[in-house]
Amino acid sequence: MKGRIEIEKNNCKGCRYCIISCPKKILLLDTKFNASGYFPAVVKEMSKCTGCAMCAEICPEVAITVWREMNE
Ligand code: SF4
Ligand code: SF4
Repeated sequence: MKGRIEIEKNNCKGCRYCIISCPKKILLLDTKFNASGYFPAVVKEMSKCTGCAMCAEICPEVAITVWREMNE
């Protein structure tokens, strides 16, 4: 299953929970501050995302949206 996520960077507090929880280890913190002064999470290899939604479920700021491509 392939997935894709979107991180609302200005809602992110840089807590790293999503980075720790991602089984594919494809998330990391950005090197630029967001509007609130935090380093937000970003995706480094979207092609490896499975759409498992672990990142979105653990995010305390509800900053992550997940899409899945289902096989027929
Ligand atoms: S949906 Fe799953 S594989 Fe994709 S970034 Fe989130 S935790 Fe990682
Ligand atoms: S869990 Fe949410 S708030 Fe924490 S770093 Fe990830 S996207 Fe940002």
